[in-house]
Amino acid sequence: MYLGIDIGGGSIKATLLNQKLEVLQQESLVTNPNWTNEEFLFGVLEIIKKFPKEKMHGIGIGTPGPLDIETGIIYHSANLKNLKQVPLKSFLQKYYSIPIIINNDANCAALGEYYFGNGKGVNNLLVVALGTGLGAGWVYEGKLFNGYKGNGMELGHITIVYKGALCGCGQQGCAESYFSTKGLLGRYFEQTKIQLNSAQEFFDKVKAGDVHAKYVFQLGIEIFAECLRSIIHIINPEKIILVGGISNAYDLIELPLKEYLQKIVFPELWNYTRIEKGLNVAGSLGAASLLFQENLC
Ligand SMILES: [Zn+2]
Repeated sequence: MYLGIDIGGGSIKATLLNQKLEVLQQESLVTNPNWTNEEFLFGVLEIIKKFPKEKMHGIGIGTPGPLDIETGIIYHSANLKNLKQVPLKSFLQKYYSIPIIINNDANCAALGEYYFGNGKGVNNLLVVALGTGLGAGWVYEGKLFNGYKGNGMELGHITIVYKGALCGCGQQGCAESYFSTKGLLGRYFEQTKIQLNSAQEFFDKVKAGDVHAKYVFQLGIEIFAECLRSIIHIINPEKIILVGGISNAYDLIELPLKEYLQKIVFPELWNYTRIEKGLNVAGSLGAASLLFQENLC
């Protein structure tokens, strides 16, 4: 049986699956944003201990990057700000001598859609995670594209606007600084000096016809489309699936996004590139999928 662990913003969630990919047991633990490395490591261990050790054949862990998938070290985390160079894999390996695979949460979301969601059977699948930030994962012929150490496909940090809006990464003009919760709320604040608290609040304003919200939304759509244009021309995906909090506004996003993309993507590619909303498969299932793609089940 396979354990998937999703290290999220406010909690750690774990799911145990059997060979038929059926869910057997689920557990969760609330995280403390002030956790030190040691507290974090023992928190992860505590949740794993809730599952029967003798039945586990592997552990897959999804966490916000950046990280090193070979050594299993998390360099730092935006949500748990005290974490630094956390040796997650080697720590857990002291207690569990089964395969432990760690990867970033956007990559796990991509595998989750491939095994459990709207990406089943898609040979060249791009999953774009639109949440607080903008991330992506690419599953090519059933395998995740990791890059050298697992930090490839940082789609949110493609520069779209030269010397554009400041991004959380410290650079300017990234796609993420225009089309993500942080980006949309940040650009709206620039226009209005009003700080909205959620993407939902922003999309409510777009629907209500707020001029500034509509402007920021259209700009975001165009910049996101330019970002997708680049990646479509590079990897030629069969399907692009949008997941994450912002994908809940897909009814609002779909038409303007596709209209704009049609104008800028090579027509031959545009004719067959499918774009749709994902099932938003649980992160812990995506994390467990790290074991399936390595044929560890
Ligand atoms: Zn950036």
